[in-house]
Amino acid sequence: MTHPEYTAASSDSDVRRPLAPDTSRLDDRSARAWTEAMAVRPLGYGRYAVESQSGATYLVSLPRSDCTCPDHEIRGERCKHLRRVAIEVTEGRVPPPGKVRGDCDICTRESFVPESGPAVCGDCWLERGDVATDRETGDTVVVYRLTDETASKRYIDSADCTVADYPKNDGYPTDDPVVEVVYPFSGDAEADLDERPRYAFPYSRLAVRDQMLIE
Ligand SMILES: [Zn+2]
Ligand SMILES: [Zn+2]
Repeated sequence: MTHPEYTAASSDSDVRRPLAPDTSRLDDRSARAWTEAMAVRPLGYGRYAVESQSGATYLVSLPRSDCTCPDHEIRGERCKHLRRVAIEVTEGRVPPPGKVRGDCDICTRESFVPESGPAVCGDCWLERGDVATDRETGDTVVVYRLTDETASKRYIDSADCTVADYPKNDGYPTDDPVVEVVYPFSGDAEADLDERPRYAFPYSRLAVRDQMLIE
């Protein structure tokens, strides 16, 4: 005999659950950090203005673990403002230190991009050592660095033209960030990336492969 309450499996989406953690298990400062009405405004360089529920605005520095409120300045506590900024960073509501909200130069999605340097999101970012294929020649190249210069601004002295005007680059966006690459299979096989001649490419000319060169 079947028990009626076992006949239908309840789906997960039917279960009511709070979005905030169970604040009864948290200490008072953490609970307040989650539940109080606060507005967090990023100021750059890891600093955030936090307008508290009381209406006062305090300045938090995440890199220095610092807040201008009395709870932190006088009592030396890790106050609710510091905790709230940490929560909002973890939840992706405000940018982490070193990043600002902006449109990615490559995929154009709004994201958190570096405060200084190329405005490129985490998905489109190129790391030193990333392996890519030159779409024009099929050559394998290795990323040396992603720059914040565009193809129409970067000048190639030896060719007496910009990266955008260089032969074979005319089909790629002139505002592409320039990527400096090296050829891993030419010259001295033992030479590391720093010792190899570097070449400037428009970002879109490179098809990045899902692998890295281990130096
Ligand atoms: Zn504080
Ligand atoms: Zn992107």
